[in-house]
Amino acid sequence: MSDCIFCAIASRDIHGRIVHETEHSLAFLDVNPLAPGHTLVVPKDHYARLDDMPDEISADLFGAVDELVPRVEDAVDADASNVGINNGPAAGQEVEHVHVHIVPRFEDDGGSPIHAVAG
Ligand code: IMP
Repeated sequence: MSDCIFCAIASRDIHGRIVHETEHSLAFLDVNPLAPGHTLVVPKDHYARLDDMPDEISADLFGAVDELVPRVEDAVDADASNVGINNGPAAGQEVEHVHVHIVPRFEDDGGSPIHAVAG
């Protein structure tokens, strides 16, 4: 989609700090991180919501998330992470291109799961 920022990152029209890539998915660092290592995982093609994605794309996306969670945690020496999706504007989705947040968490960091996913 022409005016979608995540499509522009996926097509390399704008710079993203890309950390991982699969056939259908891309992972890059969030520009406004909630914690060090905050990573977004997106389908390369444009889908606004989770249920817009074909099964093959979902499988690729969540496979990438599964692989990335321990790698992101290790990279910043985190104790845990919040992994979540804001699916629709009423749930806090600001960029209407599916994205999974991986937010590293640290013991006693004072955050909350809701805030971490809301972005
Ligand atoms: P949402 O509220 O779940 O839609 O989260 C959107 C996320 O995208 C926020 O955490 C933003 O900081 C992040 N974001 C917006 N534009 C960019 C960008 O150009 N590069 C990387 N992350 C972005």
